[in-house]
Amino acid sequence: MQQRVNPGNKSLADYRSIVRRELYDEIVALGERLRGKRVLHVSATSFGGGVAEILYTLVPLMRDAGLETEWDIMFGSEPFFNVTKSFHNALQGADYELTVEDRAIYEEYNRISAESLQKSGEDWDIMFVHDPQPALLKHFSGGLSPQTKWIWRCHPDLSTPNRHVLDYLLPHIADYDAQIYTMEEYTPPDVHLPGLTLIPPAIDPLSPKNMALSADDSRYIVSQFGVDVEKPFMVQVSRFDPWKDPLGVIDAYRLVKDEVPEVQLVLIGSMAHDDPEGWDYWYKTVNYADGDRDIFLFSNLTNVGAIEVNAFQSIADVVIQKSIREGFGLVVTEALWKARPLVASRVGGIPMQVDAGGGMLVDTIPEVASACTKLLKDRDFAREMGRHGKEHVRTHYLTPRLLRDDLLLFAKLLGA
Ligand code: UDP
Repeated sequence: MQQRVNPGNKSLADYRSIVRRELYDEIVALGERLRGKRVLHVSATSFGGGVAEILYTLVPLMRDAGLETEWDIMFGSEPFFNVTKSFHNALQGADYELTVEDRAIYEEYNRISAESLQKSGEDWDIMFVHDPQPALLKHFSGGLSPQTKWIWRCHPDLSTPNRHVLDYLLPHIADYDAQIYTMEEYTPPDVHLPGLTLIPPAIDPLSPKNMALSADDSRYIVSQFGVDVEKPFMVQVSRFDPWKDPLGVIDAYRLVKDEVPEVQLVLIGSMAHDDPEGWDYWYKTVNYADGDRDIFLFSNLTNVGAIEVNAFQSIADVVIQKSIREGFGLVVTEALWKARPLVASRVGGIPMQVDAGGGMLVDTIPEVASACTKLLKDRDFAREMGRHGKEHVRTHYLTPRLLRDDLLLFAKLLGA
């Protein structure tokens, strides 16, 4: 593998007071049953996007629960990431022609990664492969050893896939011992996967991105970026990507501005290594903002990291997530956990998170605008909405629940 990630340390005990006692005890018991089992997570990047976000918490907590857990990044390069980005888009329904050249690039990097895995001589009880980029690792590594159980974790929504890409990947995916999808609706149509397991993702309430920040500290951080904290602002935190529709967010903001002239818009997007499209879309968005001094664009390259994202999310007057397609939408979970009024598209995992009263679901740009305007004008309604959302996330979408679900699957596969 190209790189072993050091995700640092976390202690399960720190989560004791945040989640139910029974859940905590269940994790400890599963950890005992699985003590010493060796787990390798493999993903395409250690930075940007939901998968990396989850693994920085899950890997240390699996270790603390008693499993020997590592996280490797597969080999990659710009041509490879261009192909896998096309795969990702195609699996979510975009037009794309699967060429012989693209297949060759995809297979080549999977083969190199698989060879390096074999050469390392390390032995794994569980190979936990994330998303389509490394999906051929099992094929090219020959499954490693007969004891190794293989899990493929799918984050995107495969309900309306481009058939060519799906049919190409499917035999490989079906060959895994288990396939984890976020929800039933994301599974590919007309496909029977015997190892199908449904597990929604989760956020870490104690990470710098989600830990409690005081309103004063958040205002102090946000004001350093030139945003006027005495005036309302709306924020969308998302990769610069057509599926996240930053241009649509700007259209909606312009409609809101007619009603609430002092409103500001903040668009924050991290630039991920496996997302070459990001730069094109960043410039497109800058041009579309057309010099409006109340629109702010930030990224990890302008010093907006986890704490800063936390500060913006913690005091935003409205959090927007105007995705056209979405995986689970972790960024929605983050906003709800911070008790923010939320306006989000009715796509992917978003409706499942937006429990009755915990946010406003919308379909069109005018609907985004009118929902935002309502929340900016009716502060009591907005506050009440925030409270609902937070409790729903506490019950369903915090990391200890995800850890428990993954450990249950390991125990089942390993007969532990
Ligand atoms: N994110 C971030 N900085 C950014 C943009 C995104 O930290 O500038 C994080 C965001 O907070 C969330 C993750 O990246 O934790 C995005 O996950 P999500 O499931 O919403 O979308 P994905 O990028 O996986 O499609």
